[in-house]
Amino acid sequence: MSEYDKPPELYDGLRLHQNENTAGCSPRVLGALASLRADQISFYPPYKATVEACARHFGVDPDAIALTNGLDEGILAVALAYLRSGDRDGVPEAIVPQPAFEMFGVTTEVVGGRTVKVMPRPGFDFQLEEVLEAITPRTRLVFLTNPNNPTGVSMSIDAIRTIAQRVPPGAGVFVDEAYVDFGGETFVPHLASCPNVIVGRTFAKAYGLAGLRLGAVIGVPAELNPIRRAIGVYSVNIAAVVAVRAALEDPAYVRDYLRQVEESRRLVYAACDRLGLAYWKSDANFVLIRTGAETARLVEAAAARGVYLRDRSNEPGCAGCVRITTGIVEHTRRGIAVMEEVVCAAR
Ligand SMILES: *Cc1c(COP(=O)(O)O)cnc(C)c1O
Repeated sequence: MSEYDKPPELYDGLRLHQNENTAGCSPRVLGALASLRADQISFYPPYKATVEACARHFGVDPDAIALTNGLDEGILAVALAYLRSGDRDGVPEAIVPQPAFEMFGVTTEVVGGRTVKVMPRPGFDFQLEEVLEAITPRTRLVFLTNPNNPTGVSMSIDAIRTIAQRVPPGAGVFVDEAYVDFGGETFVPHLASCPNVIVGRTFAKAYGLAGLRLGAVIGVPAELNPIRRAIGVYSVNIAAVVAVRAALEDPAYVRDYLRQVEESRRLVYAACDRLGLAYWKSDANFVLIRTGAETARLVEAAAARGVYLRDRSNEPGCAGCVRITTGIVEHTRRGIAVMEEVVCAAR
């Protein structure tokens, strides 16, 4: 069984282990939350204006989007829609190229499917041929992440299109774009020509709304409707409903964060070059670094100094690898300083 290795609840230091915006959300979001009225909280939430604002933001029609309680709920709804056994013989299969966000495997098994893991190539360039070879008549779903977590490496739009053309009739391809705000290319403009693809987005990362839980699944209406049925009718709460509109009205805030992410990645690459550590060029707000046999000790020593990093050593292809969030520049500098101190002390 796959398990989600949920990070411990660490809030007393610098959280560079969960890819959050460590500066917090836009002040406009706080303003919107503060002006919520008592009746807005006592009534079931209205969604129309927020769905329309999000649809405009993603460049799709309102009927091509469903809001979810975090993208995690979107992943669950997609799994429910495609992986329930039923009309076919055998256990439905979900293909998950590795390394991957752990929720794909967990969710697949929770809904009764079987996870088919496709092992990574050494440099993490996308294993298209291997994924195609893993497709069987029982394949109901392929989980892709672009840019990928935990590597930060992107795959091509053509690779996604090829997979979508090769899966059996009725099967879907889920493209998790939790990090596409930071780099890589969105599949959204190609949904009309590849109707069995569903895109997942979240406001947890670039928009700094992880604590409010808001995600979206995007697809052509015919493909999206069965997924919509698997989402609770009032799954998204009123705080998220008003917050995301305020966040979308403050694009300068996100622009500044994206600029800091770019600078932070460069700082981490430079630090790795100085320390002689291998890393992968990332299109996301984190970088995966090969710190070797000392990784667990490094993560522990950094935590003792108040900086949290994520040990990804147990993920396929990631032996001896740590993942560090590269967001707010000042926080990245602190993270790098602690890493340098610990790594140098060990030499
Ligand atoms: C963070 C993350 C999510 C979860 O997003 P939420 O909106 O916080 O549920 C989904 N997919 C990937 C790849 C992530 O890294």
